[in-house]
Parts: sequence; structure tokens; C-alpha cells
Amino acid sequence: MKGIRKIAPYIPGIQPNTQDMIKINTNENPYPPSPKVAEALKQFDSERLKRYSSLDNLALKEALAEKHGIAANQLMIGNGSDEVLAFSFLAFFNSKDPVLFPDITYGFYKVWADLFHIPFKEIPLNKKFEIDFHDYQQINGGLVIANPNAPTGLFKTMDEIRALLERHSDVIVIIDEAYAEFAEESMFSLLNDYSNLIIVRTLSKSQALAGLRIGYAAGAPEYIAVLESIKSSFNPYSVDSLAEALATAAVEDTAYYQKITDEICMTREWFSQQLEELGFTSLSSQTNFLLTTHPDLDMAQLYQYLEEKNIFVRYFSKPERLNSYLRISIGTRKEMEAVVSAITNYLN
Ligand SMILES: *Cc1c(COP(=O)(O)O)cnc(C)c1O
Repeated sequence: MKGIRKIAPYIPGIQPNTQDMIKINTNENPYPPSPKVAEALKQFDSERLKRYSSLDNLALKEALAEKHGIAANQLMIGNGSDEVLAFSFLAFFNSKDPVLFPDITYGFYKVWADLFHIPFKEIPLNKKFEIDFHDYQQINGGLVIANPNAPTGLFKTMDEIRALLERHSDVIVIIDEAYAEFAEESMFSLLNDYSNLIIVRTLSKSQALAGLRIGYAAGAPEYIAVLESIKSSFNPYSVDSLAEALATAAVEDTAYYQKITDEICMTREWFSQQLEELGFTSLSSQTNFLLTTHPDLDMAQLYQYLEEKNIFVRYFSKPERLNSYLRISIGTRKEMEAVVSAITNYLN
């Protein structure tokens, strides 16, 4: 048939639905969203659904502006950060020069570049799985950096990101902060000084709202306006009324989220220590997951064994450098204790 599009889609981790499973394969939050979200859901008047949702999402933007200490016109809201990122690629990467991103990072970047016919170049991580910004000193049409990076969990400091923004002041630099709330700092304070910075965030991971589909971009008002135009050219109502109401309740409850984020970071350190005692080596993570390896174990086999025990982790057969690792999301302490005992049994 003539004219049919060929495309290799992004392949997310599986979403099994067995009872008593430990699902630590897609970096979801093991805790429920804030009780304020449950309350807002109860209070939501279904009558509101007969009207189209808000075009400017001002209620949610104002809550986010307060949280991040920026203005509402510095924010664009979308149906998950996947949509925000896709729109950002359309809005900001219109150069003939290649967009640069790491060879090992969020797998969706390459898919969007392909889908939108944007030239791109994947820059290999160094031997220690780190991003080396020296390797980005070449002609480019923009940069996309997940910080912390996925699936490595490694973090670039504000000084490094500032230097990057200065070196690439003629293009947009997207910093995907999907995991930033689990890290030591965020790049929001750089927005005042660098108009080429676009920060993308999601409520899916740290706010425990993966099923609600809310993400956002923050940047200079003039570039956020371009992003809004792309949204208006595609699906102006991509954020539904219920999602906006619940997301607003979540963003306002900073105390609850600080508590569960601290809990996850503590469990991450504990789990990393336990793995080390079992002979594993993990990269130093500033996220809610660990990338871990073991010198004597075949990770594909360990993955299989854990799956038989209803423990779902993530194994990447490609690229080759990753196939001796497992990526394990951090669940509750109780879940991670069960994972440790399953791995201990496997080793014995
Ligand atoms: C999970 C994730 C996203 C997508 O988040 P959604 O808001 O659920 O679409 C984007 N970037 C990275 C690096 C992620 O890990």
C-alpha cells in the first residue's frame, strides 16, 4: 500500500495486573496520591463535565507557579509530560542541525525525533554511564537532557547545567525533571537567568498520579507561548476538568509529598545497601529507581526468576551495555524487603 507510515513506537514497561504482585518496573510511586486528591474527587461536581475543560488551566498553573516561585505565564500544562515533551519537540526543534541527547536515556526522545522528522544525534554516555557535556560541544539544533537521567539515575549539578545553558545559548535546552523531586536540587532557579531553558515535569512519579496524565513545562513566557500554540494546533482541551481539579489538589499538598518522597529516598538507600551486601553494584541514584548489576549473575535470568515470584522489574536487552543491569523502582519498605529475600533465595 502506498503512503503508509512506518514507525517504531516507544515500548513502555508492562502493566501486569495480578494479585499480590510487586510492581517495580515503571517507576510508579508505591504510595497513594495525597488524601486531598481523594477529597477533591469526592467533591467534584459531575455536572461540570458537560462543559469543555479550561483552555488556560489557570487554577493548576497558579498552584504550580506558587510551588515553583514563578509566574503563571511561564507554565504550559499537558496530558502527561509525554505530551508536553512531544509538543516541545514540535515547538523548539525546527533546525536542520541535529538535536542532541544521550544514547542511554528516556527512550521516547528518539521516537518523537523520528515521528516528527527532526534530525537527531545520540551522544554516548561515558564508561561510567555519565553524561559528559564536553561531547555536546558541536553544532546542534537543541538539547534534551533528563536530569536525573533515566535509567541510570545519575544527576548533573546546577553548576554543570548552568555552564551547558551558557554554552548553548542559541538553542533551546530541555531539562526533563521527571525525577527531580527525588534529587538534591532542581533547576527552577535558573529560569530567571536563562531564557533558553525549558524544564519539563510530570505528576506521574513523585505525585503518585501516573494514571491521571498531567505534565507541565516551565520556561520564558515568549517560548511557553509557542508551546501553547502547538497545543492549540493539536488538542486545546488535552487537560480534562477532572484531571485539572485533582492535580491542583495534589500540587497544593506539599507536606504530604515531602513525607512520601523522603520515605522513598530512605528506602532507596536501604535497598541499595542490601543489594551491595548481596554482591550487587548500583549506580548512585537520585531517583526512585536503581540501576544495578552483579558480576556473577545473568540479569535476564534473574528478571525471569523475579517475574515467576510476581515481582516485576525492568530489564533492557538493548543497548548491549544495559543488558547486564536491572532497573528496579523503589516500592514501600515492605515490598523491598520481599525483593531482597527473593534475591537472597535466588542466590542460595
Ligand atoms: C516517566 C517519564 C516521563 C513521562 O511521564 P508522563 O507524565 O507519565 O508522560 C517523561 N520523562 C521521563 C524521563 C520519565 O521517566
